[in-house]
Amino acid sequence: MPDNSAERWVRDAASQFGDRYGILTFTGENVRRRLSPSAVQRLESTLQQGERLDPRIADEVANAMKDWAIDNGCTHYCHWFQPLTGSTAEKHDSFLSIDSNGQPITEFSGDQLIQAEPDASSFPSGGIRDTWEARGYTAWDPTSPAFIVRNGVERTLCIPTCFVSWTGESLDQKTPLLRSDEALSRQAMRVLRLFGSADGVVNVTTTLGVEQEYFLIDEDLAAMRPDLLLCGRTIIGADSPKGHQLDDHYFGSIPQHVQAYMADVEQRLFELGIPAKTRHNEVAPRQFEIAPLFERSNVASDHQMLTMSVLEKVARRHGMRCLLHEKPFRGINGTGKHNNWSMTTDTGHNLLSPGKSGESNLQFLTFVCAVIRAIDLHADIMRASVANAGNDHRLGANEAPPAILSVYTGDELGRVLDKLAAGETSDFEAKSRIDLGTTAVPHLQRHAGDRNRTSPFAFIGNRFEFRAVGGTACVAWPNAVINTIIAESLDWIASEMEGHVDANGSIEAAAVEVLGDVVREHRRVIFNGDNYSADWHEEAARRCLPILRGTADALLAFRSDDVRQMFQKYGVLSATEVDARVDVLFETYNHVMGIEARTLLQMVETLVLPAAVRYQTELASSLAATEAVGVQCPATGGRLHDLVDTATRLETTIGEIRDAIAHEGETPDVHARCIQDRIIPLMEKARECCDSIESSVPADIWPLPTYTDMLFD
Ligand code: ADP
Ligand code: MG
Repeated sequence: MPDNSAERWVRDAASQFGDRYGILTFTGENVRRRLSPSAVQRLESTLQQGERLDPRIADEVANAMKDWAIDNGCTHYCHWFQPLTGSTAEKHDSFLSIDSNGQPITEFSGDQLIQAEPDASSFPSGGIRDTWEARGYTAWDPTSPAFIVRNGVERTLCIPTCFVSWTGESLDQKTPLLRSDEALSRQAMRVLRLFGSADGVVNVTTTLGVEQEYFLIDEDLAAMRPDLLLCGRTIIGADSPKGHQLDDHYFGSIPQHVQAYMADVEQRLFELGIPAKTRHNEVAPRQFEIAPLFERSNVASDHQMLTMSVLEKVARRHGMRCLLHEKPFRGINGTGKHNNWSMTTDTGHNLLSPGKSGESNLQFLTFVCAVIRAIDLHADIMRASVANAGNDHRLGANEAPPAILSVYTGDELGRVLDKLAAGETSDFEAKSRIDLGTTAVPHLQRHAGDRNRTSPFAFIGNRFEFRAVGGTACVAWPNAVINTIIAESLDWIASEMEGHVDANGSIEAAAVEVLGDVVREHRRVIFNGDNYSADWHEEAARRCLPILRGTADALLAFRSDDVRQMFQKYGVLSATEVDARVDVLFETYNHVMGIEARTLLQMVETLVLPAAVRYQTELASSLAATEAVGVQCPATGGRLHDLVDTATRLETTIGEIRDAIAHEGETPDVHARCIQDRIIPLMEKARECCDSIESSVPADIWPLPTYTDMLFD
């Protein structure tokens, strides 16, 4: 497979670090050494020109892959895919076969590489298929390198694939991402042609660098909390007196055992060809972050799924539990992914890098304006693309961006866009100098804009960062949505510009005219202030920006006919595929919340109430014994009253939850609405009672590890 810069970087790094990082991906040298030059050339031209793979080379590639995998200790291969469950799936087959003489041989044919037929009946299809309709297909995605996964001594060759139903509809995350990337490329190429920049460019692809936050908790403590085991988050738990008020964890020195874990994770990632780059402590106690070098979005998205899996698996080997949930602990920062996104030509030109002057600037501004227009027109589906039960706790809390989509441009880009709105152009001053006032330290280069960590969609010099993506999310879906809405915007802008060029001949005049219109029409989505402030929420409402707080509200955005038509028009998803996907998203939300509600009931009944009763007995006997010797103790009496009151309220509330979960809605949408409006507030109420009981009972009676136990050594 062709090298992209990040893959090359991993290989070079592997050689820099000597034996420490072996590489277990079928890319670059591995491919060149094992395939004939003509097969290498045909494969590479297929990948680079985006043409369909020549089936005649499939047998040769399959055979080379098999030999390479067996040389590296594999006995089995699998088609690795991403069903709509939010995780990855694999079904292993051995390379073993029997030849016509009845002799055992190893075999892996082109057909087996290109296509497989797993039983699809137990994967979510959103009603596209009945349960008895089982057939589904996986299809090799040659643009993402095959890799070897180690599991103890076992090694398996994994082949990234798309997953579709027998009827041809996509049942996975990868397919719409691939289709959306192509849709964006087609429209972006039109813009490049208008500006005379398309010479030698075959296509445009999106690039992605995803920063992943995570928590590491002691395994023994996690094992004592049913909520962490079953839901990935604490559904009850009183705040620790210390959170991250002192900001003393952020970028602090990494504890030794965590650094050993991170090194182990990086080693695994390097083996898989994943270019891990940055590691650091995050804001909350026991919270950390890892970021790779960016890659083509399809590869980056596959690598992100693998990164989550490696983070979780390696933690177990280090006696820890890695939590990726969006809000594992109330009252301290939750977990997101910062989705750094850009567009680049196959010749390596980042289309979101400001040009040095005049015309190249206008081309850059065209792509920026396409983004601004897209986010303004489709803020609702952008919000919906990151909606899940976990992210509802995060969006709008005080560390994450709010549930209102807006774009941060920074000062310099903001100034240039203001000029455009006034019908003028102006050069982009990318950098200025900062003088530290001491001769010992050289002048610093100041970026064109500050960072805005409160903005959900921020321009940072040469890319946009979508900060609302949740910690557990598969990034393929939000990026398929971003690519689609930007393809739509580029299409509109290119058509407008083509019309103006036909009329008066000059692309510069056309660009100024069209982009001026875009900024004037869509500038309401630009916000460069504090997105956490109450003022912004009021201002956003005045600007009529959609405010969709919960998943049950947000997902409805995908039900609109215009949205379904847009996905269909750009060949990303048919209307049936959109509907199915949204059904699955609603159903997943309903299942997740059902599990959370039942876990809460069980914890209350088997852990919280028994602890309360024990303390109640202790208080009552102490009170009786004390009063029996003639001493009044109103404080103990008061405690007893409070405890009994709280426990009674808790009993009533869990009764209400039990009633509420017994009544499912007739449709997934109605069910989700009931969860959001009725069950979640009841769960919150129950939690308040549990946390109040936890805060009052003696430590030796409380049966669960506390926030302090889990978050501080
Ligand atoms: P920070 O936390 O300061 O935002 P990090 O270095 O942790 O920065 O992460 C930034 C991410 O953005 C990295 O994954 C990086 O590779 C990625 N990135 C940089 N340039 C691009 C680009 N052109 N397209 C996509 N991602 C990019
Ligand atoms: Mg960042």
